[in-house]
Amino acid sequence: MKYLDEFSDPQLAKKLLDRIRATTDRRWSMMEVCGGQTHSIIRHGIDQLLPDRIEMIHGPGCPVCVTPLEIIDKALAIAARPGVIFCSFGDMLRVPGSEKDLFHVKSEGGDVRVVYSPLDALELAKANPDRQVVFFGIGFETTAPANAMTVYQAQRLGIENFSLLVSHVLVPPAIAAIMESPQCRVQAFLLAGHVCTVMGTQEYPPLAERYRVPMVVTGFEPLDILEGIRRTVAQLEAGRHEVENAYPRAVSAAGNPAAKAMLDDVFEVTDRAWRGIGVIPDSGWRLSPRYRDFDAEHRFAVGELHAAESSICRSGEVLQGLIKPNECAAFGTQCTPRNPLGATMVSSEGACAAYYLYRRLDQPAEVAHA
Ligand code: SF4
Repeated sequence: MKYLDEFSDPQLAKKLLDRIRATTDRRWSMMEVCGGQTHSIIRHGIDQLLPDRIEMIHGPGCPVCVTPLEIIDKALAIAARPGVIFCSFGDMLRVPGSEKDLFHVKSEGGDVRVVYSPLDALELAKANPDRQVVFFGIGFETTAPANAMTVYQAQRLGIENFSLLVSHVLVPPAIAAIMESPQCRVQAFLLAGHVCTVMGTQEYPPLAERYRVPMVVTGFEPLDILEGIRRTVAQLEAGRHEVENAYPRAVSAAGNPAAKAMLDDVFEVTDRAWRGIGVIPDSGWRLSPRYRDFDAEHRFAVGELHAAESSICRSGEVLQGLIKPNECAAFGTQCTPRNPLGATMVSSEGACAAYYLYRRLDQPAEVAHA
């Protein structure tokens, strides 16, 4: 296939669905790790086309959603400082902290700017040598290489008024944490194709072996997802638990060696808190000692700020696949994209936003009558 719309071909989708139906004998629950895949599944109604015996569990792979409240509060504190230009991608501006979001800080006079690349923030730092320019570096293995490259460039060019507020998280430790949970129902994973484009697939066979779960690297178009599900079901029915690559047009086993070398140089692995989930050991990156001077938490001394999550929002359970968004009592009532209570309703990749956007509004009876 040559063009993107060919990956939505209805005839091919029907053939894949027929093959999935023909293969499925038992009940299976599988998790799509990435929020982009969740949106594709809900948008195209893929979960509704699958046999009833297959349940798609939505995973934690939304970078905005898992950024912890205390990092948002640190961003708000830094952005409110005089002399700071605080730069971020657009969807972080509406993510609620303990009391407000970055839009509020901007409306109160903070210099908060939306940029389209961390390198834009570095240009701002060059153009404003008398100001401190901070970039909000969040996300998974996908966004980290560009942020690493920007810090590397800042050091190489001697741009000392640039810093990075880092909240990078890693997929493999999150999979381990999900599988270790006593409430875990996940029997297989669709792995995030873009993460594997950077990191390759070599981290996953030990996880597949340890937890005896099939893992299939999957893309984002409807046919990609159906092919990922088809291969996953085939493994489950055959009692296999292997790592397969169903996204070979983008993913190789080795990943992107240049990006990995940059990540190894600029970052080091650390424990990270995931919003609504808690601390997962060795599940994130922070700047390595060689680049610590560019760490905004260190530069602005906000390291000791701590915050408590909302008692209403159940996004932690949504992110772990323990409930569907419409099982949260606040879904579509107190919590909507206009008035989000949690990050999973704000982010363009959040599961709650996907259910709202694509009109999965009906709450299960036990929630509606609670
Ligand atoms: S619907 Fe809103 S309150 Fe409920 S889990 Fe999702 S983001 Fe949180």
